[in-house]
Amino acid sequence: MFPDFRDKSIAKKLSEGIRRISKNMGHIKIMHVCGTHEDTITKFGIRSLLPDNIEVISGPGCPVCVTTTREIDEAILLSKNEDVILTTFGDMMKVPGSESSINEAKSEGSDIRIVYSPSDAVKIAQETDKDVVHVAIGFETTAPSTAVELRNAPDNFSILNCHRTIPSAMAFLMESGDVKVNGFIDPGHVSTIIGIKPYRPVSERYNVPQVIAGFEPIDVLLAIFILLEMIENKEFKVRNEYSRVVREEGNPKALNAINEVFEPMDVKWRGFPEIPGSGLKLREKFRKYDAREKFDIRVEDRGEPRGCRCGDVLKGIIYPEECPLFGRKCTPVSPVGPCMVSMEGSCAIAFKYGSE
Ligand code: SF4
Repeated sequence: MFPDFRDKSIAKKLSEGIRRISKNMGHIKIMHVCGTHEDTITKFGIRSLLPDNIEVISGPGCPVCVTTTREIDEAILLSKNEDVILTTFGDMMKVPGSESSINEAKSEGSDIRIVYSPSDAVKIAQETDKDVVHVAIGFETTAPSTAVELRNAPDNFSILNCHRTIPSAMAFLMESGDVKVNGFIDPGHVSTIIGIKPYRPVSERYNVPQVIAGFEPIDVLLAIFILLEMIENKEFKVRNEYSRVVREEGNPKALNAINEVFEPMDVKWRGFPEIPGSGLKLREKFRKYDAREKFDIRVEDRGEPRGCRCGDVLKGIIYPEECPLFGRKCTPVSPVGPCMVSMEGSCAIAFKYGSE
């Protein structure tokens, strides 16, 4: 039987344990790489339970937020083709491109439909003579459902491939030295698919402990406590707090689907340069489903919107409130950057729950 993950007495004990163990430590920075973790942390005021020397920062864990301006512009360009129906997740609609958003393209007449999964997009393709292009975003969590659909997709279906993988980005952050991270809280959803092994090289190479965590407030507090223990003991390994869901080997079926359809490639993330091996390229056999090739689109990367500091938010260099546009020029109603659009974006979460 699992403990009650909202039990206040457990939270109190963990908070006291965190204070005790960190008493003689210097400043410790713990990074999570998951929008759902940021939601839990902000919603339940986890940061307010921590001593001043323990900081929890958000990394590049929101799939919509790391999608580049160029990818949004590509989606808009594809939607302008009268023979194309563009399908996308709802979160992407309001993300600003360099000149407009997918939402604006829809209001100007493009046939754009919100779907909840790639299989919804394939169904649309099966019922039309038009070409259906699905904006395929997300990490290892959503890549399997794209891969499974491509195994038997009709010829009038293709994807604007924007999939990315998490461990390569964590390694890149450590290598770049842009922000000093003493420990990682690893994303529960992604870990359900990839298991524990892919994180180990990051710990071994950069001497940084990691804890895979679930999404209840107690999960996060426990992960922080375990990380502090590991830091104290110089234990640079990966531990699994989310063992009720995450297995050592992950989900072999989902991993097989990803490996059958995709291979690693270098790709740019918003706010980052190209990160080696952090993208998923369609293998030769599935290249006919690549919308960029099919429609021969070429779009220049115009970078982030003026004044937007999503890149620094995604690298954990600043908190959302430190962006000069936060809550002034940039709000969920009128977002300047994607971090204010997605419900997993740090800026949208900070705006929703307010500062602690
Ligand atoms: Fe970008 Fe808006 Fe966040 Fe600033 S507040 S970083 S402009 S999304």
